[in-house]
Formats: sequence, C-alpha cells, structure tokens
Amino acid sequence: MAEYAVVVAGGGPTGLMLAGELALAGVDVAIVERRASQELAGSRAGGLHSRTIEVLDQRGIADRFLSEGQTVQVAAFAGVPLDISDFPTRHPYGLGLWQNHIERILAGWVDELAVPIYREREVTGFAQDDSGVDVELSDGTSLRAEYLVGCDGGRSLVRKEAGIEFPGWNPTTSALIAEAEMAEEPELGIRRDARGIHSFGRVEYEIRDGEVVYMDEGPVRIMVTEEHPGPAGEPTLRDLSEALVAVYGTDYGIHSPTWISRFTDMTRQAAAYRVRRVLLAGDAAHVHSPVGGQGLNTGVQDAVNLGWKLAQVVNRTSPESLLDTYHAERHPVAARVLRNTMAQVALFRQDDRIKTLGDTISELLSMDEPRTRFAAMMSGLDIHYELGEGHPLLGRRMPDLDLVTANGPLRVFTLLHDARPVLLNLGEPGGLDITPWADRVQLIDATYGGTWELPALGEVTAPTAVLIRPDGYIAWVGDGTDTGLRAALTTWFGSP
Ligand SMILES: Cc1cc2nc3c(=O)[nH]c(=O)nc-3n(C[C@H](O)[C@H](O)[C@H](O)COP(=O)(O)OP(=O)(O)OC[C@H]3O[C@@H](n4cnc5c(N)ncnc54)[C@H](O)[C@@H]3O)c2cc1C
Repeated sequence: MAEYAVVVAGGGPTGLMLAGELALAGVDVAIVERRASQELAGSRAGGLHSRTIEVLDQRGIADRFLSEGQTVQVAAFAGVPLDISDFPTRHPYGLGLWQNHIERILAGWVDELAVPIYREREVTGFAQDDSGVDVELSDGTSLRAEYLVGCDGGRSLVRKEAGIEFPGWNPTTSALIAEAEMAEEPELGIRRDARGIHSFGRVEYEIRDGEVVYMDEGPVRIMVTEEHPGPAGEPTLRDLSEALVAVYGTDYGIHSPTWISRFTDMTRQAAAYRVRRVLLAGDAAHVHSPVGGQGLNTGVQDAVNLGWKLAQVVNRTSPESLLDTYHAERHPVAARVLRNTMAQVALFRQDDRIKTLGDTISELLSMDEPRTRFAAMMSGLDIHYELGEGHPLLGRRMPDLDLVTANGPLRVFTLLHDARPVLLNLGEPGGLDITPWADRVQLIDATYGGTWELPALGEVTAPTAVLIRPDGYIAWVGDGTDTGLRAALTTWFGSP
C-alpha cells in the first residue's frame, strides 16, 4: 500500500492549492481525483478577488494568472458595483479568468512541485485509527496517510463518511447555465423579470474601459432562472429550451450544447472542519449561491490557512492542537460568506418591496464608509482572525510593503514565496533574537518609510516588528519591545 503523509481527496482549486502548499513545506502529499484530466465540464467561477490574487502573489505565482486574465472591478454586493481601485493593495481589482484556466494554471504549479495525482479514481471510503487513515480508492487499491483532507466538493464523500453534519438551508431558487450554439442571435446581456435574472454572453470577451465586450461570434453562455428550484438530477437540452421559451418566448434555435448544469442557492456549512485525522476544505466545507463569486476564493484561502499548519503537524514542529485553529479561523470566514450570499439572493427577488430595499442598500453603498467596508468584505481583504486584543494588524493580512534591506529593496510578499514564516524587524537592526526558532522562522532586518494602511480601516500605527505567518496573516506586532514574541513563536511555530 502506497503511503503519504497527507492524501487530498479532490483536485479542484482547493485540493490543488492545498497540495501545492504542503509540497512547498516538504510534505509528502498525493491527490486523488475523479476526473481524467484537469478539463472542466462547465464554466463555474469567473475569476479571482483581490485577496486571492494577493495570496497567489505571496507564492510568486500571481503573474501566471494575471497574464492570462483581465483585471477589472468585480467586487459587488447584490449587483451594486464596489470599486476598490483606491484600496491599499498592489492588486486593487479582481481578475476575470474562467475556472478551467485557474485550475490549469494551479495544476501546472502543483506539477512543478512534483505532487503525484491519482487520476480517474475516486475516494470511496476510509477508516481512521490512532496513527493514520486507510483511504479506499475506486480501483480497489488503498492509500495510507497520516491525514486525509476532503477537498471533494459540495457533495463531499469525505464529509459524509466522517459523519460531519452539514446544516443550513435548502434551495429557494435555481438557474440553468450552459454553453451552446444558437441558430438565431440572442440579445447579449442581462435581463430581469418576475422570475429573476437571466443572461446571455459569449465565452470569449474583452474588457474595454471596465466594460465587458463580447466577441461577435462563437458559442453562447446562457444563464436562465427556473420557475421553481430544479431537481437534483442532470438537466437536459429540453429543460434548457423550455426554460428559455418561458422567459424569452423562444429558445433561439439552441443546439449542440457543450455542457448544461444547474446551480442553486443551497446554503450549508460543515459543523466541524476536522474529525481527528480527517479535515475538510473548500466546497466540501461550505456551499452557497455563486452570487458575489466567493466560493473558489474561499476554498483557495482555506487551503492556504490549512497547508502550513498541517505541514508543521506532520513535520512534528507543532502539536496536533494547531489544527484546531484551522476550524476556529476559517469557519467564521465561510459563515460570513454564507450570510452575505443569503442576503444578496433575497435582494435579487423580484418583488416591489424587495426592490425598494435593494434601492435603499444601493444608496447606502454609494456612501464611502459602507462602500469600503462591503468592498473589503467581498474582495476578502478585510479577513480578520481573532488572535486576541492588541494592535489592529494582529490577525489581519500583512500588506505587501516596499522594504529596504541591507541587500537592497525588497517586497514583503517575496519573503513568503517558500511559505516560511517571517519575523520582520523594522526597528534597530539585530534588536530581536529568535535563535531557538532560527531553523523555522526567517528574521529580516529592514526599514520602511511609508505609512501603514489597511483596507477599510485606514492608517494604523507603524509597528516596530511583525511576525508574519506563511499564509500572510500577522501573528504578533512589536511596539519597540519583544513582549509576547516568544509566546507567539511557540503558539504558531512550535516549542523552542
Ligand atoms: C455557476 C457558478 C459560478 C461560480 N462563480 C464563482 C466565482 O465567480 N468565484 C468563485 O470564487 N467561485 C465561484 N463559484 C464556486 C466555485 O466554482 C467553487 O466554489 C469551487 O469550484 C470550489 O472548489 P473546490 O476545489 O472546493 O471544489 P470542486 O471545484 O467541486 O472540486 C472538487 C474536486 O473533487 C473531485 N472529486 C469529487 N469527489 C471525489 C472523490 N470521491 N474522489 C476523488 N475526487 C473527487 C471532483 O472531480 C473535483 O475535481 C461558482 C460556482 C458556480 C456553480
């Protein structure tokens, strides 16, 4: 039986990101993926939000995505655009890039890191004991791992087999999405009616002056809201044609679909992200309406939160209790996404009173403070892990500052490329001593002359040092002394 430190069930965006993070930390990891290749039937996510671009930048791979997509102001709440171009980040925008490309680029990175992928096989079950997990595969073989992570999507077998509850709300609305040819020319763009929102676009598009401009030819991408939440089975061309006729009075001679699928606003979250040696991440841990484009982003960021912690546990740097912080930090983040998607779905309802509520929200969001707060939420830039009282930087993302070191200029994010923690000393050079952790934590003496500004919060007092976790969140803030530094190093990076 092949043995790995970690087996990841599912090689979608979350599983790929997690495997990459683990491999960077030297963990022996393998992915088991049902699909024969990274090809994706259907379009799904349309891009990345600012914080996810930052997270990829922390690993030095953001340019791979940026060079293939188009940057655009994508953050929005219930259809109200939220411009983040004035936000203090190197990436004050989102990226339009279809999920199949995002997965292809991530898979390329994972391949460079030499992670084995067992393709065309499913995880069909597992049994965990005190020292590990036996993972059963659909080809009759098994893998042995210290930990199994279910990144196997919304219908996660790992979650079900682990007996993890998935409480939440059943769907109230559904839509068919498809890519197909049409004999007649549909009117491209969005239509709203009593049933909800519908749209036609082309697969190929450009962004000019911040506006999506579709190509003149090529397959049409369709979204049509159904009258009632559709059944769980796979939708057919006939279902799609009927739904189009009901809304547009014609199906525009639709034919030759490359794929048809259905999404709903089902909203559920795993009650626990870990049961002993089995963990969940991404859609396996949370599902919700796609409104706001947050699912893939949340999954990738789950992976970046979990990766280094799991690596330290399997490398025996940290006790298993470090894994408890994964649920403690990431469950509230997804709970907030569930909440904001439910609110947005409600605001999209076509009822005159709801419409006036939407107008009211839109008016509120035209004011600067609500705009910045909601934009920071939708772009993921305001994520705050509860690490206790203290400086506003504690538990928040480290900004990608331009530093000056003895060796010349340096961007903070370049220090995180290897997913290793950093103690950034901006005070007197040599003023901090972390010798017992020198094998685990990089100590960098640098200067920074600018201001410290956080999205939505504004300017904060400049710290004299910060301890940055591999996921880019700040675990300790120095105020001229090293009070609390040893405790923070021990909590996050193991005993001296
Ligand atoms: C219409 C639509 C639009 C969306 N738009 C956006 C958007 O703009 N932005 C955004 O952030 N998100 C968006 N999302 C959500 C996004 O697509 C998902 O959140 C994202 O794909 C989740 O990634 P994941 O890796 O967690 O799960 P998945 O992408 O579902 O990947 C799970 C993987 O596991 C594999 N698998 C499943 N079971 C097994 C098994 N037993 N054994 C082995 N392999 C298995 C599957 O083949 C799959 O590759 C959208 C979704 C939809 C439906």
